Parts: sequence; C-alpha cells; structure tokens
Amino acid sequence: MSFGPNERADVVIIGGGVIGLTIARALSQRGIRQVMLIERGRPGSEASWAAGGILAPQVEVDHQDEFFRLACASRDLYPEFAESLKEETGVDVELDTTGTLCLGFTPSDEEELRRRHQWQTGAGLQVEWLTGDDARRLEPCVAANARCALRFPRDIQVENRRLVDALVRSNEELGVQLVINTAVTALRIKDRRVCGVETSNGFVAAPIVVVAAGAWSSLIDSPSLLPIQVEPVRGQMLCFSADPHIARHVIYSPRGYLVPRRDGRVLAGSTAERVGFDKRVTDDGVSAIRSMALEISAAIASLPIIDSWAGFRPRAPDDLPVLGPWAEIGGLLYATGHYRNGILLAPITGLVIADAIVDGDFPANLKAFSPNRFRQIQGQYHPA
Ligand SMILES: Cc1cc2nc3c(=O)[nH]c(=O)nc-3n(C[C@H](O)[C@H](O)[C@H](O)COP(=O)(O)OP(=O)(O)OC[C@H]3O[C@@H](n4cnc5c(N)ncnc54)[C@H](O)[C@@H]3O)c2cc1C
Repeated sequence: MSFGPNERADVVIIGGGVIGLTIARALSQRGIRQVMLIERGRPGSEASWAAGGILAPQVEVDHQDEFFRLACASRDLYPEFAESLKEETGVDVELDTTGTLCLGFTPSDEEELRRRHQWQTGAGLQVEWLTGDDARRLEPCVAANARCALRFPRDIQVENRRLVDALVRSNEELGVQLVINTAVTALRIKDRRVCGVETSNGFVAAPIVVVAAGAWSSLIDSPSLLPIQVEPVRGQMLCFSADPHIARHVIYSPRGYLVPRRDGRVLAGSTAERVGFDKRVTDDGVSAIRSMALEISAAIASLPIIDSWAGFRPRAPDDLPVLGPWAEIGGLLYATGHYRNGILLAPITGLVIADAIVDGDFPANLKAFSPNRFRQIQGQYHPA
C-alpha cells in the first residue's frame, strides 16, 4: 500500500509489538476514532513473540520501589485483561495461575532466598518457604540437590504468542488501522510539535505519535528525539517437548528458568547479550541454557529440543521503561525500554499512555519512568 497525500490519523503508533498493540487497543476503547498502528513487518513477530510470557515481579526482587509497584499492578490487571480479550476475540491467551517456584542449590542461594522471603512476608506479599522435599512433592521433576525454594502463588504466566494474536484481532474488531510491512523512517516536527511520520510508503499526518518500536526505538530519524539509546539485548531460548508434562509451575534457578506450556512445550531461557541486532542462536547460548535447564531438572536430559530462537529486549540505560510524553516535542510520547518485562508491563502501559493522551494526565508516581528523566544538560543526563 502507499499513503495518499491526505493520509491522516488522530494518533499514530510506531511498532506492532505487545506494547504498541495494547496502546492502540486502549486508545480505541477510550473513544479515539482514528488510531493507526504502523508496523515494519508482521505485528508481534519480534521480542513479543520471542518472550517466555512470565508475569513474575516478585521472583527476583529484593526491595519495593516504583518499578516493583508498577510491575505488580500490571500483573494484577492480567486476569481481567485476558478475560476481556477472550470475550472480544475468542482467543484464550492461556493465562496460567499455577504460580512460580524459585529454587536454591547452595548455602548462599538459601541465604538469598531467606532474605527475599523475609522482606516480602514483612511487606504483606504472598510468598511461601519450601524445603527441597516440599518443592519435589509439588513438582517431582525438581532436581534432587535443590535444598530449598520459594513459591510465589501470584507470579504467573501467559502464552505471549496467543496474546499478540488476541491483541491483533481485538484491534481489528475495534477498527484500529493496522498498517503492516511499512517502516516509519522519520518523524516530521514543526515548531517543536510533531505533525506526522514519514514512512516507506509515504507521509501520514498526525498530531500525536507514540514511539513503541521496541529495541529499534532509537533508530527513527528526527531532530530532538530522546537523547539516549534504547539498545537491543539479545535473549536466546530453547524449546523442549514433554509428553507427559514435566511441571505445572514456572521454575527459576539463580541462572535461568523453565516455562511449561499447556501444549507440552517447555521453554528454557535465557541469555542476555549485547551483540547489536544479531539474531543468531549460538552453540554457546544453547549449551548454557541446556546446562541451566538440567540444573533445575534432570528430566530435561531425555526431552528433545524442538525449537530455538532469539529476540531483542529493548533496554534503556537505567534498565527502566520509558513511558509518557516527551517534554521537548509536543504530541510525542514514548512507550519503550520495557527490557525484560514488556509482556508483564503491557496492560499498565496501555492504560498509562491512553490516559496521557485522552486526559492529558501523567501520574506523578510514574515520574521515574518519564522520558523527561533523560533531559540533557551539558552532555549529562539528570532526573527531570
Ligand atoms: C528471550 C526473551 C525472553 C523474554 N521473556 C519475557 C518474559 O518472560 N516476560 C516478560 O514480561 N517479558 C519478557 N521479555 C521481554 C519482552 O519480550 C519485551 O520487553 C517486549 O516484548 C517488548 O515489547 P515491544 O512491543 O516494545 O517490542 P517488540 O515486540 O520488539 O515490538 C516492536 C515492534 O516495532 C516494530 N518496529 C521497529 N521499528 C519500526 C519502525 N521504524 N517502523 C515500524 N515498526 C517498527 C518491530 O518490527 C516490532 O514488531 C523477553 C524477551 C526476550 C528476548
């Protein structure tokens, strides 16, 4: 397709991953008529496809902060999010609420897990202490040398590929214009306001633009864009096939995780590599993930590997998401940098960005995630 000279939208969203799709849906549900989402390839075929779908803010965290609260709030939106997507589209996103285990193997792992258990129970969060034997009674596949575990009953998982599928269908039903195989090459900016996007198929005028292009968010050309790089962090994954199933919980070790899917697949991840946009699965990556998976469960040794892949987590320099209006350019918003938690953070991102656009409201408690924290002073970044 190519755009005519009068092509316009009320809001253009750049990028059709879980973040762009969730924002488009939320805006349309809030009554914005002409929402256009522009995706370079197929929607949901990058990080949102590669992910493990774990929705687990509690597993790895050692203190409460704004990020932890945001992540828990988003996780707790999931039951309603999944249910409404099913009603709208018929797609079951396989939200699995069995919970997550985190295993300890060494005395120092045990010490760490005890600390986590203590602060989380002290903070009124749900978490259970298990001995190694308790863990094996719950999940017989757990390694014989696991000495203890934490169980997080509220840390859950979703089938992220089904989620993307449901979001695409929901957007179609709502009348969002999904433009595929079209890359946004630049923003057009006049008098410090955004007025549209240049694409591989022509210009689209729009008074509001949301950059939700994941690991590619810093590659869109424009003066006065965010003065930081969102960089790709490669994650490799292996997929085993288990018949019968080997586990029901998501199971973490200090080195990685296993995610049992409803259809018998068991995902194992992952790596975190700064190798640019190189999407190869490497021998070293496969070997590291396989060893990590074997540490969690010897049962992995007999399972065939049926697939492997890699994807790019979008990472901002301080590891935090970048959400909301960019003060330097009117009408320009960011929703990127979701790094290791974009599936988890999708529902809350949709709400926050839709509120910012529809009501002009960006909550003060989300300031830590505002792009304005990166305003430049003499080449240094400082919190806004
Ligand atoms: C191996 C791995 C495991 C992970 N596991 C989890 C997990 O268990 N739980 C969790 O919460 N998160 C997980 N993540 C992180 C999560 O996948 C990401 O944070 C999330 O998918 C980011 O979503 P996104 O929409 O921003 O990016 P993406 O899904 O990458 O989407 C960005 C889209 O923008 C498009 N695009 C880019 N540039 C342009 C342009 N110029 N014009 C038009 N379109 C453009 C791309 O084609 C792409 O479709 C994992 C990631 C990886 C790689």
